[in-house]
Amino acid sequence: MNLRIGQGIDFHRLERGKKLWLGGINIPSEKGCIAHSDGDVLLHAVCDALLGAAGSEDIGHHFPDTSKEFKGIDSKILLSRTYEVISKKGYSVVNLDCTICLEKPKIAPYIQSIKNTISKLIYTNTTYGSL
Ligand SMILES: [Zn+2]
Repeated sequence: MNLRIGQGIDFHRLERGKKLWLGGINIPSEKGCIAHSDGDVLLHAVCDALLGAAGSEDIGHHFPDTSKEFKGIDSKILLSRTYEVISKKGYSVVNLDCTICLEKPKIAPYIQSIKNTISKLIYTNTTYGSL
């Protein structure tokens, strides 16, 4: 068994009036992330962890924030595309362990929805949207 472990981390500044996306779920909040994409820090960190474990370039290489193609993009598409990258290299995901550092809003009510969304994207290899 060729078991690899990846680690991803992501930060975005918050701004009042922006939507907050975490794990593919829109969470009601006064503030959301400033980003080129939808700013889903959790999915970005997962993408980087998967890419790193597979020995691939990072998320910025695959989905550059200088590209109009990724302006405002749903990060679920980025994770789906990331899964395609690692799948082509012969890898799959066994387990994800994620930590979100956020004082508010409380995200506990959304954790199961986040798990379901990520699971659909990577464990069932469902392609989400298209670029
Ligand atoms: Zn990010």
